Amino acid sequence: MNISPILKESGVFTLVHEEPNRALLIINGEEMKSSAGTQLTRENPADSRRIVTVAEEASRDDTAHAVETAREAFDKDSTNWTKDFKLRTRVLNKTAELIRENSLLLARVISLENGMPMRQAKPQALAAADVFEYYGGWAGKIYGQSMYLPNGAFIALTKEPVGVVGLITPWNFPYTQTARKLAPALAAGCTAVMKPASYTPYSAYLLVNLMMKAGLPKGIVNLVHGKGSVTGAAIVTDRRVDMVSFTGENQTGQFIMEKAAKDMKRIGLELGGKAPFVVFDDADLDSAARGLVFGMYRNAGQACGSTTRLIVSKNIHDTFVDKTVQLVSSLRVGDPMQDRVDIGPVISKDQQEHILGYVKSGLDDGFDLLCGGKAPTDENLKHGYFINPTVFDNVDNDSKIAQEEIFGPVLTVMSFGSEAEAIETANNTLYGLTAAVWTRDSARGFRVSRQIKAGTVWINDNYTQPPEGIWGGFKQSGIGRELGPYGLDEFLEVKQVYMDTTGTPNRPHYSQVISD
Ligand code: NDP
Repeated sequence: MNISPILKESGVFTLVHEEPNRALLIINGEEMKSSAGTQLTRENPADSRRIVTVAEEASRDDTAHAVETAREAFDKDSTNWTKDFKLRTRVLNKTAELIRENSLLLARVISLENGMPMRQAKPQALAAADVFEYYGGWAGKIYGQSMYLPNGAFIALTKEPVGVVGLITPWNFPYTQTARKLAPALAAGCTAVMKPASYTPYSAYLLVNLMMKAGLPKGIVNLVHGKGSVTGAAIVTDRRVDMVSFTGENQTGQFIMEKAAKDMKRIGLELGGKAPFVVFDDADLDSAARGLVFGMYRNAGQACGSTTRLIVSKNIHDTFVDKTVQLVSSLRVGDPMQDRVDIGPVISKDQQEHILGYVKSGLDDGFDLLCGGKAPTDENLKHGYFINPTVFDNVDNDSKIAQEEIFGPVLTVMSFGSEAEAIETANNTLYGLTAAVWTRDSARGFRVSRQIKAGTVWINDNYTQPPEGIWGGFKQSGIGRELGPYGLDEFLEVKQVYMDTTGTPNRPHYSQVISD
């Protein structure tokens, strides 16, 4: 079943069934087709025979037009967007409300374009609403600081929006990844050009439509679809863009960093991960196994923070691995639109082959394949990009499957003797995005969390991401932070205004140049 929305005045979508869905460009509040007349198509990853979205592909002129529009909207501020925080609060809060009202539709669109099971897609949409609401609350609370100096001068340190931001987002969580950039950028008073992943253009199109229904003035958010290497790169290299906020692969992050250096653009990079999940022998093993399976296999393991490396105490290795494998084997792989499905397809044929390549590498290295490792053989899944959830035991942490980001449902298991060994293995990776530690000894939990080099360490929990917290990584997992107050700071410049209050013609330091 495909869905095409008709907007009602209230902003609530009416569903009609039609395929494929059409994702238009949105520039200066107008929906438009590609000026070059070209489109991108997206197939359903659960059934590749079906085209679910046709997206208008922005030409170079369209992308330049989107940037120019965002620039003008920021510089002229004819809509009062940067000046009026009450307007920004209203739009962000209303967007949250409309996302909630339409969460079922948005979930279905995520599921169609990206293959995420409905049970995970609806919470995704609702989590994006929470992020919009959270930053709606911030828009009117962006205070600076001020003080009088000993020489009588008064300084005010004020916060101002960075300007025009280019937001380049991935496909794995189309609403939350976008919300974490867009909501704080808008709360700060920035204007934006958005380039969503080519796999999920319709998800982005619906979101911008909802924002317009929420009262977003024209020109504040401009949406372009197109290939990353063309449309994304055009945004990154455009001098009129003040900042690029990107989530995606490390290689793309490096490209963006290099190109942004030319104009000294600000950048925010959220990149890959290879997160450790450390289980001590005093942990609540049933809870830990459930936390692991959730954090590892959600969205078929296609998550940067997936806890892909289980590092378990030797004392409980067999018991804990048995529990984990039992749970993993009970996961249902299938059509993501069905309620009872836990694991949908991966994003593409290439990604499916890429993941199976890692399975082969694990087998070639002689590691123990405990379950999965293959595409399911069911007749009704043969046109989708499915992979059974996979566990490899007795893996060497220096191996390819333990070091490289697989971005699929493949867990690697290693064991440790001492606490120091657990920490060393956890940190032995290029990445540093997330980690989890399970123990009933809270002193140990804190001690270990302090020594793990990662942007988030969960203790006795896994993969919770409150909007009030942060998201972002140490080491090669990125630069900057999303969510919480730090996520807002990314989109703010700090300005000093220095004012003399003495009214005297001479100041002591002038005598360094002027002798009376
Ligand atoms: P990519 O880097 O391939 O793509 C991400 C976005 O960048 C897409 O919109 C893509 O467009 C665009 N893009 C690609 N090439 C360029 C370029 N040269 N210039 C500008 N933009 C470009 O990553 P994936 O979409 O494959 O996402 C998966 C990766 O993202 C994983 O490695 C994962 O670890 C990481 N990730 C990190 C997260 C974090 O928070 N740290 C969260 C989620 C994912 P197009 O789609 O057209 O190729």
